[in-house]
Amino acid sequence: MKHLLLTCCLYFCTTAYGQSLGEPYQPSSSLGDLPIWTSALDQPYQGDWLVQSSDNRTGTGREGATKAAVYRTADSKQIILFNGLVRRSFSLLPDAVCFDYRNMSNGQQLLRSVKPEASITLDGVEYAVGGAAGESENAYFLPEWLQDLHANAAFQYQSLEAGLLKPYLLWKPVGWAARKTRAMGISLTMHYASVLRALKGISVDVHYELYDGIPLIVKWVSIDNKSGRTVKVGRLKNEILGVVEEESAVVGKEDKLTVQHGIYFETNYAFNNSMRYDISDQTLHWQADTSYTSQVNYDLHTPCVAEVYPEKVTGIDLVNGGSFNSVRTHELLIDTYDRERRGLAIRHMYRTVAPWTTENPIFLHLVSQNDDQVRTAVEQCAATGYEAVILSFGSHCNLEDTSAANLRRWRDLADYAHSKGIRIGGYSLFSSRRISDEDDVIDPATGLPDKAAFFGHAPCLGSKWGLGYLARLKKFFTATGFDIFENDGPYPGDVCASTKHPGHKGLDDSQWAQMELQKGLYHWCNQRGIYINAPDWYLLDGTNKIALGYREVNFSLPRDHQMILNRQNIFDGLWEKTPSMSWGFVPLTKYQGGGPEAILEPLQDHLKDYEQLMMQYYGAGVQACYRGPRLYDTEETRLRVVQVVDWYKRYRDILNADIIHLRRADGRDWDGWMHVNAVGAVKGLVLLFNPLKQPITRKIRLPLYYTGLTGQASIGQREGTPQLYKLNGLSEAEVTVTLPAEGYTWLVVK
Ligand SMILES: [Zn+2]
Repeated sequence: MKHLLLTCCLYFCTTAYGQSLGEPYQPSSSLGDLPIWTSALDQPYQGDWLVQSSDNRTGTGREGATKAAVYRTADSKQIILFNGLVRRSFSLLPDAVCFDYRNMSNGQQLLRSVKPEASITLDGVEYAVGGAAGESENAYFLPEWLQDLHANAAFQYQSLEAGLLKPYLLWKPVGWAARKTRAMGISLTMHYASVLRALKGISVDVHYELYDGIPLIVKWVSIDNKSGRTVKVGRLKNEILGVVEEESAVVGKEDKLTVQHGIYFETNYAFNNSMRYDISDQTLHWQADTSYTSQVNYDLHTPCVAEVYPEKVTGIDLVNGGSFNSVRTHELLIDTYDRERRGLAIRHMYRTVAPWTTENPIFLHLVSQNDDQVRTAVEQCAATGYEAVILSFGSHCNLEDTSAANLRRWRDLADYAHSKGIRIGGYSLFSSRRISDEDDVIDPATGLPDKAAFFGHAPCLGSKWGLGYLARLKKFFTATGFDIFENDGPYPGDVCASTKHPGHKGLDDSQWAQMELQKGLYHWCNQRGIYINAPDWYLLDGTNKIALGYREVNFSLPRDHQMILNRQNIFDGLWEKTPSMSWGFVPLTKYQGGGPEAILEPLQDHLKDYEQLMMQYYGAGVQACYRGPRLYDTEETRLRVVQVVDWYKRYRDILNADIIHLRRADGRDWDGWMHVNAVGAVKGLVLLFNPLKQPITRKIRLPLYYTGLTGQASIGQREGTPQLYKLNGLSEAEVTVTLPAEGYTWLVVK
């Protein structure tokens, strides 16, 4: 422990991402160096980690209560990953065996049986990594049964190293962000090797990360090949957990039975354009366990084993001297059935592991035909407090044109934008494009290009064109100094049966290889401070923002419909996303059809609607793509934009905090949401809307628990004089609010 603490003091002080390149890390600790586990540590967690930072503020007497560490038992037979909120214990005999996974907030034990640490198929043979055999009862597991187990894995535990957490990406923050510091925690690597002749020279590491202040463990597996030959890596299950069943039923199959709610899984291998993780996931597989013969389900179909692996990755050549890393599995323990609380935990996870998603520039989605329009847009941004211009689809900017003249032209425009303090970005389409029969994805069933592409057509990112595309984009950004990349859309998971594409060998590795190429581009951008809008779930690999979740053609509907629909989209889109992770849409000019009743231009004629649409998004903390040639047409319009942007910047911290859902818009009565931030000067900010054609007065109950306020709260309407409200035992306040017809208001809670 001393060693860990000393190093913490030495290196914890440099936390900004910009300073982290080349930063030294703690030399690794081996088993004997680990602090010794004591029963004094093993206490139920008191408090609420979701009332942010209540544990880590000095003077609370609870400093360090949720600090992550790896412990060993005094006899060095077991190790424990522990941060006050989660405890995950491993026996090191007869092999490394995870036998305990406990949520310290509610006492829930998640494991019912022991399983291998991982499983790897090499050259067509599946091998277990760690774990042990001999468990006869699989409904639950008692630690004293460890002595009856025997090692049976091909890869067996050899040694371990513990150290400080290293950031996955060396993000370079540039603009405003709610969180610029990197997450703290510890890492644990367990080394495995095999005595089997077929596995000579092949070693496996199982990596764990445990974060401070959140019941979150990240796990991945790496393989090193020093066998002297190329081996084919097939299915790699980097997590296998014998999880307690959520429910029992005498009949019923895996797909009908509910799975364990106490653990949330997310990997960095997700896509499909749904704008939600659970549907985008490509890796989580809930399986039955036929060795669990005492389960209630007569035919043993209870889904009670969680396995993590990408379904369509079946054969990757790992050359001698090479190494391979699996997907990263994030495991977040959930202590509730409450939808809001569950969502808050997931949103907190993103702030922790992907802080770049808290960056949230205000941008104009410019549609330009010439350079003068770009300069005008830059000037309008500077004159209103906007922070960026993105040259949207349909603009005259081509990021793939790397001719000297094009690069010089956009370098000049970027310089001009930067001279005004404005960031500049561009748009590039990848998915749904057709390039050529040689470069498009080849359908494995027919051998023909594009027959099974997700969007109808798609180039292969591993084709000659695809590799060139990546190189051209990097060249453009490097040469011009552009700050923002809008990638529509990322690689959507299309497999490709071509055996001629230079970026992958064939069908078996085509999805993995393209995914790696896509992630590589985003890592490259992330480390250079290039902000990325991308409509798919690449947030854990460096993209900053994804679409909120909307139907594009709705922006051709009348504005009064759009207002309600936008608020529904905000309400629905922010259960498991933070405001800054999401973008909405406001068509200033015609978009997807629709007549004058749908668009805002001429802006001066629709100031009330323009203001309301801005307030809905800014009031949600969600940046919208304000798409058109300009932000204002008259001085009056400009002042209206300035008024909203100034308001947003005044409340920027709280508006970027998570929302609590109050009432979903339905056009029949008030609707709204509330931002909460227990550590901010403003603890809560409530946005309320009235869609009715007459003013209304309503008693509204505000659930202020996550503001951290108890006893009383100071609540003011708009910028008016606040009043003190007594809170009930659930930290709720009841306020009476009058809302103007077809208008809005806000409440400030301190
Ligand atoms: Zn291909």
